[in-house]
Amino acid sequence: MKLWECPPFLFVIMGVVTIITMIATYFIASEYVDEPQIAALIVIFITTLFFVIGNLIINSFNRVAEANRLKSEFISIISHQLRSPLTIFKWTTDVIERELKQGRSYADISTNIQTLLDTTENMNNLVNALLDVSRIEAHTFILKKEDVSLTSLTQTIIKSFKKYAEATHIDITFHPDTQLPTVYADKQRVAMVIQNLIDNAIRYTPGSGHIMITICPDNNRLTWTITDQGIGIPPQEQKRIFEKFFRAESGIKVQARGTGIGLYVAKTVIEALKGHIGFRSEEGKGSTFWFTIPLEHHT
Ligand code: ADP
Repeated sequence: MKLWECPPFLFVIMGVVTIITMIATYFIASEYVDEPQIAALIVIFITTLFFVIGNLIINSFNRVAEANRLKSEFISIISHQLRSPLTIFKWTTDVIERELKQGRSYADISTNIQTLLDTTENMNNLVNALLDVSRIEAHTFILKKEDVSLTSLTQTIIKSFKKYAEATHIDITFHPDTQLPTVYADKQRVAMVIQNLIDNAIRYTPGSGHIMITICPDNNRLTWTITDQGIGIPPQEQKRIFEKFFRAESGIKVQARGTGIGLYVAKTVIEALKGHIGFRSEEGKGSTFWFTIPLEHHT
């Protein structure tokens, strides 16, 4: 960015210009106006006008600078996050090619094929989340609502996490109440929210641990809750947790993989469904994230 486009530099320039304006206005006013009070009023009026206009200009520069910063951050996050699955993809494809040339059977290569499928799925999820972020910014985020059983959706997602959870020595318990009513919601997006909350609970629990998921009906809504025994979130970082691109220092230390967009999108989705999302967390002990979805129908 050029120096003259830098908001702090513009601020200094504005200060200097305001002082010059004050002095100039004072001399001009005292030349033409006899009453010192009127001259003072003119000085105050002109200076305030200058100050307001200057501030508006600097603020718009600030917004452009912030948008630019976010854009570069966004590009760097996407490239980092896509690089590792793409590397896995390339290596696995090479291995499969070698195995096929050696005349290996399908049973031999099926694990690697599964890795390719999982990696593609991860990339797909990431790109969908990124598309949602840009839709939120462009105010074109639209929900496709249908009747959704949170219970069976959660069960399906837990199943998809089974291998990953086992590999990281984490067990997930979920004893659903089969009588729960359905909610009228965007199934794919709610699935994304649930996937993100389970993924976070696993990723921010180093070593082994236990994750508990519950769904409770109360007051015309369903409350979905997940509790982990992970690293927790330090109090000073808690208020920023739903911000776009925000990653807590504590999280970055234990988990390199992350974008800081999952919870931002989750909050937008849940609030668009007229629900609420929140958490409580204790550093070093664990976290509980929850969201609610109202039991309204076809509105
Ligand atoms: P990320 O891709 O970084 O996980 P999220 O938006 O899902 O992005 O989460 C934002 C940040 O919130 C994370 O980087 C992490 O610092 C913190 N966080 C989220 N879930 C948990 C959790 N269950 N335990 C501890 N920290 C968490």
